Amino acid sequence: ALLRDLYEMHGKVPLSFELFPPHSADGRNAMLETVERLSPMASRGFSVTMGAGGTTRSGTFDAATDAATQSGRPVMAHLTALGLSRDEALETADRFWEGGIRRILALRGDRPRGVSGPLPPGFAHASDLVAALRQQHDFDIAVAAYPEKHPEADTMDEDIVHLREKLDAGANSAFCQFVLDPAAYGRFLEDCARHGIDAPIVPGVMPLEGWPRLKRFAQSNCTKVPDWLDRLFARTEETPELEPYLAATATVEQARRLIAYGAPGLHIYTMNRWPLPLALAEIMGQG
Ligand code: FAD
Repeated sequence: ALLRDLYEMHGKVPLSFELFPPHSADGRNAMLETVERLSPMASRGFSVTMGAGGTTRSGTFDAATDAATQSGRPVMAHLTALGLSRDEALETADRFWEGGIRRILALRGDRPRGVSGPLPPGFAHASDLVAALRQQHDFDIAVAAYPEKHPEADTMDEDIVHLREKLDAGANSAFCQFVLDPAAYGRFLEDCARHGIDAPIVPGVMPLEGWPRLKRFAQSNCTKVPDWLDRLFARTEETPELEPYLAATATVEQARRLIAYGAPGLHIYTMNRWPLPLALAEIMGQG
């Protein structure tokens, strides 16, 4: 499968793009410009993140409806439940539905930063949220998947059993935490197939820009950092002019390998910036 190359992929790969809710007027302009630039290539639409513990609920709603209006593409809103009561989580989903949002990425989420003490009793696992959303509206529901295992899970098998529960509860697809070693995604797809999972499992692609920060972020997520990437980006310390070229080439190669391993599409983390995501989209994205 690894022989599949860019010539074969050109113009064919379904893409979606992840945005985050902006914090300022300038941030909103940057997000809207990103949506405008990427819309023609966003055959699978956009998604908008939500802060841990449901923080940025309104910001997520505003950004999701802005992105839908601006692009005319479907938009998936992330919904993080931990920290919200069941009613608060479902009211948020109601608001999304009434605003025309039909896709939700249902997440348990993490404890909001800086908040200690007991949280309101709510949805303990993403699978509980999926089941409640399924009862509520006819949403297209997606869930999160972890090719290198969720940090809290003891074993990969246990984590995949929980992924399967989320899908059985009514989710139609899964989106992955990003990997820096595409082979990890390939192995994960095989493990999921062994567990009888046949829903599409879409890998995340992180543009490999700003390596020192990205490397720290990867390490904090327990994402394995390949030595060759570390050595590659070490070169940019003495020759910064190389950075954009190395970043773009390495990102396209990661994306190519993910498709070669069997990815049904790619979900690109834009960080509300468009140039590298658009370059990748021009090379392999479906218009
Ligand atoms: P769950 O699926 O509930 O799993 C969490 C842990 O509990 C796992 O270890 C799982 O194995 C275990 N588990 C699940 N069910 C059970 C059960 N029944 N019994 C015992 N254990 C169980 N975070 C944000 O704050 N905002 C975002 O917008 C956001 N977007 C994301 C997008 C993607 C594509 C991904 C992959 C992650 C995203 N996250 C986001 C991070 C996510 O919120 C965290 O990883 C969180 O810790 C887990 O959420 P989950 O929905 O995967 O939880």
